[in-house]
Amino acid sequence: MAENSDAEKVIRIAGSITVDELAQALGLSVTALIGELFKNGIVATINQRLDFETAQIMIDELGIANVRLERKNTASKLAEEGRRELSKDAVARPPVVAVMGHVDHGKTTLLDNLLNKKTVETEAGGITQHISAYQLEHDGRKITFLDTPGHEAFAAIRQHGAMLRDIVVNVVAADDGVKPQTVEAIKFAQGANAKIIVAINKIDREGADVPRTMADLSTHGLQPEEWGGEIIMIPVSAKTGENLEKLLDAILLVADVEELKADVEIPAEGLVIESHMETGKGSVVNLLVTGGELKVGEFVAAGSSYGKIRTMLDFRGRPKGKATPSTPVTVTGFKELPNFGDRFMEYPDEKSARRAALMYAQNAQNEAMSANVTSTDLLRMMNTEDNAKVFNVIVKGDVLGSVTSVVDSLKMIDTKGEITLNVVATGVGDITENDVYMAAGDTADNTVIYGFNVGVPTNIAKLAARDGVAIRNYKVIYELLDDARAAMEDLLGEEIVETELGEMKVMGVFRVTKTEIIAGGQMLRGKLIPGILARLKHGSTVLGEAEVESVQKERIDAKELIENEVGGLALKTEKKMNLEVGDRLEFFSREKKKRTL
Ligand code: GDP
Repeated sequence: MAENSDAEKVIRIAGSITVDELAQALGLSVTALIGELFKNGIVATINQRLDFETAQIMIDELGIANVRLERKNTASKLAEEGRRELSKDAVARPPVVAVMGHVDHGKTTLLDNLLNKKTVETEAGGITQHISAYQLEHDGRKITFLDTPGHEAFAAIRQHGAMLRDIVVNVVAADDGVKPQTVEAIKFAQGANAKIIVAINKIDREGADVPRTMADLSTHGLQPEEWGGEIIMIPVSAKTGENLEKLLDAILLVADVEELKADVEIPAEGLVIESHMETGKGSVVNLLVTGGELKVGEFVAAGSSYGKIRTMLDFRGRPKGKATPSTPVTVTGFKELPNFGDRFMEYPDEKSARRAALMYAQNAQNEAMSANVTSTDLLRMMNTEDNAKVFNVIVKGDVLGSVTSVVDSLKMIDTKGEITLNVVATGVGDITENDVYMAAGDTADNTVIYGFNVGVPTNIAKLAARDGVAIRNYKVIYELLDDARAAMEDLLGEEIVETELGEMKVMGVFRVTKTEIIAGGQMLRGKLIPGILARLKHGSTVLGEAEVESVQKERIDAKELIENEVGGLALKTEKKMNLEVGDRLEFFSREKKKRTL
């Protein structure tokens, strides 16, 4: 990322920035910035701290185009730091593979077939658990597969620095070819420095065309090995299982070339890949160990949470005493829920684990609390001041990872600056009474509650219906995002669209009254049909508009008059317009159209 290209300046903000600092960074006087804030209803002083969003909004409002704000993300910083230098004692570790690709191209089927297992498993207690990683053995070697939460939302995941995969298997259906999410997956893998293997799927299907899919992929920068390129592409059928062994061979081959290693003689460390609360168990956290060996009874800290590993299960739910690098495990014992993407570390005792968590929490709090002016204040002010369009949402998800993915994906909907997303609240678990009350509250008049993989108790649904609160519950993030986009488009309202249809040169004017004009002429271009509108022009002066009532060709009613044809027409008018020979009639249609994003 170019930091100081002369065209663009990057300002990095951890949690907040003072008015003074921002003014300096923007090369503005403090008074000018305070003035702009004031215009937006915020009374600020020089030392007040603005949060990231507020600073961003100010930059937009001031029309400063060459400055880019970047968030100093604590989580991603830590994740990056996590890519530690290896010692000479580092040992080989299994590859970590993410399966990505366009919706319906067969990711789930592929994972299911590979693991002979459903991605959503019902536990003994009847609680549906989100499994986020698996391991399988091939040729006596292990491979770790990630089922990234809301795995369509690659960009959101990347924001959280969870660049923990080594290999991305991009699943492309051979009967459908390269689609938007195929391209997204390619970009994601490239951005995360992961190796790509393409699984050209559904080769058992009638319309499957492997060479065409390869050609398609090569236009997107992936050159198949067969054609002298670098990317291994394996035609497979996730359904029949054909060539899946070859796919696993390819994964191990790439892993060998990459010489994936990790140190084991260090305190255990890794990443939180999922977390949720469970009755009777407290926090249930899925971890991916990236270094060291994690054991039951050890003390760990992740983000602002810490604890002693009470139980540890492998992905199949079997007790595990020790987890080595690249192993996904589900643990209990964290005092609070750590966040998806948080880095975890082992500490020698409870005290140091607690201290690490406290320090993290304090840093995070300093960052957040140090902002005196938050974007929520600002948006509220702007909203009441000049009716800027704000889309308020409350997001509830089954697990933290999905909440984060949904919120981040919502933020990435391009609203062309016309609509601002305001996340009123987020949370894990079913939709509650409180969510409905919050949505029905006064400042958030058009708040939508989005649920992702959560329940909506009947009494809550009734309450929402009574209070006119919209609850939209989805299982597929894409559908949720489509709904949000449609809701935002509704906020935009309608626009009037005019379409030019043709032009006529007036050669005769036979009758002009207040309500009607009958004239004749030659079509210069386009088409004339009854029912459309005409703009009457004398030179560059617009005389007015009229509706085309009927069209005549050789004195009989005609359906149309096309380019070069000569004919007559009757116009319905609302005032008298003195149309003359030599004037022009411009034909057009006018429609109200819903505005789209
Ligand atoms: P995802 O959205 O990428 O996870 O796609 P799914 O795994 O849910 O697959 C979408 C649909 O394609 C399902 O109906 C699958 O049964 C079907 N499908 C997936 N892989 C294959 C395949 O190799 N052959 C055929 N014929 N159908 C497949």
